[in-house]
Amino acid sequence: MNSAREVLALKYRPKRFEDLIGQDTISLTLSLALDTNRLSHAYLLSGLRGSGKTSTARIMAKALVCDQAPTSKPCEVCAGCIAANNNRHLDIIEMDAASNRGIDDIKDLIEHTKYKPTSAKYKVFIIDEVHMLTTQAFNALLKTLEEPPNFVKFILATTDPLKLPATILSRTQHFRFKRISDQNIIHHLSHILNIENISFETEALEMLTRSGNGSLRDTLTLLDQAIIYSKGTITATTVTDMLGMIDPTFLDNMFDLILQKGDIRELLDSLQSYETGQVLDEIAIYLKQKMLEKHVKFDLYLFDRFYRIIADAKQLLNLNSDNGFVLILTLSKMVEAVSLKTIDEVIEQIQQKEVVTSIVSNIDTQKPIKQITNTQNLQEPPSQPQPQPQPQPQTQTQPIKEDTANILFNKLISNIYNKNYDLGKCFEKSFHFHSHINNILKIDSTATGDCKKSLYKNFSYIKQLIEETYGDTIEIEFNKIQKEPTKEMARVIKATVFNTPLDQSSPQVGSMIEDLELNQSSSCVSSMCDTKNPSLSQVDLKMEDILNSKMVKTAIELFQPPSQPIIKSKN
Ligand SMILES: [Zn+2]
Repeated sequence: MNSAREVLALKYRPKRFEDLIGQDTISLTLSLALDTNRLSHAYLLSGLRGSGKTSTARIMAKALVCDQAPTSKPCEVCAGCIAANNNRHLDIIEMDAASNRGIDDIKDLIEHTKYKPTSAKYKVFIIDEVHMLTTQAFNALLKTLEEPPNFVKFILATTDPLKLPATILSRTQHFRFKRISDQNIIHHLSHILNIENISFETEALEMLTRSGNGSLRDTLTLLDQAIIYSKGTITATTVTDMLGMIDPTFLDNMFDLILQKGDIRELLDSLQSYETGQVLDEIAIYLKQKMLEKHVKFDLYLFDRFYRIIADAKQLLNLNSDNGFVLILTLSKMVEAVSLKTIDEVIEQIQQKEVVTSIVSNIDTQKPIKQITNTQNLQEPPSQPQPQPQPQPQTQTQPIKEDTANILFNKLISNIYNKNYDLGKCFEKSFHFHSHINNILKIDSTATGDCKKSLYKNFSYIKQLIEETYGDTIEIEFNKIQKEPTKEMARVIKATVFNTPLDQSSPQVGSMIEDLELNQSSSCVSSMCDTKNPSLSQVDLKMEDILNSKMVKTAIELFQPPSQPIIKSKN
């Protein structure tokens, strides 16, 4: 144990193309290029740090300086291979562009390209982090990169290919390194640990891999650390401790508390020792896992809300906001997010509230109804079922309970209001719920004047809304409500019946006639659904029509001596 131990990242650095982790396509392409001797003079390798670019460049270089070069399987035993493996082959020149970025450095390098390789067939120039070169350095390199001596090969590596000038990109064969998948990394780690004879828990390796963010080198460095810290057995607990991560069970408990809208203050104490940014990251990872698991505890819309909250919090952190405050804010927002309702639920609730308002406003025109109180406020959890008025089943034979029926009718009113406010107003003013029995909706009508016209005109629309509320098979019946003929009305009737000229200037006469119209033609309203009779226009109602009405006939009987039939009825 005391002997100097090589770090895993170096000890297990891939030495052959087939050892490269998660970059099968690239290693295959390069192997084929080497085996068929179809080599480009410049390669560009780009990708995340720790994705295997430098390793690939070195394997490639070794493949070019081996005695059997070019070959995809360097012999590993020749002087060239051994020198290459020890990073001291004279014909492999590695340059770190991050620290040698000026034009003079490139001029030196170009000077090198003029001399033939010392022992190998090729001279290989590896320029790491090539995007760091200055513009002048790039320009100086262009000519050589385009037409180098045929024994010169360039391998450029970068984490940021977008920063390279197009002129460089067009002169190289570009290989993009994929992010190594977590599975590949975990597999590689367990492979190494098996060789090193160290026991481990897979969960611990998963944590290390997550922290490594797809970089194999970073993950191996963490693994080195974990081996030392865990003294022989790598467990999830030791890794959690070592990485300063939040215990997954703590996150479980935390979200239990949030979902139950508990007191988050008790969480804050435990989270105090963590960086807020890290807490947010771990929450995000936790939620991602739960979402993939389709965990029953979380509704899908909650993930969306939580992620927005986390994103907001990160923005606040970027503005150098107080960490503790951001954490409190985030957790509080999450608790609130649990309480928020979906849009559908809110719409339902608003509709219900409108119904209640309508009930209250109609209370004087309706039979006394039980006051329905909607005490539910917006803060209540969506999980609590709300009593919803449901369209009545079509086979209903029992009278519907009055409360339910009123709610349903008021829902209809609010539906009409929603579609057309004026129509809703007329409907509410003129039509009153009578009964709802055996799937027949009886409505009392007191419609007059413009309202009546409007209702008549829009009846098919109203009918559609009634069907939406009560179901397709609902039958509608209208009862006209007969008003007691007032003295004035009686005078009008009398005048009409006895053919006496009416004082048209009397302001009430018009309305009286209208009332008469109503009584006569409430059959209009009651037969509105009868589309066979569409010509029945209220405007065109003639006096004769009034005279033919049942009510007037009754009036005639009351006011006229029976022996003297004056009125000639059309019927
Ligand atoms: Zn060799």
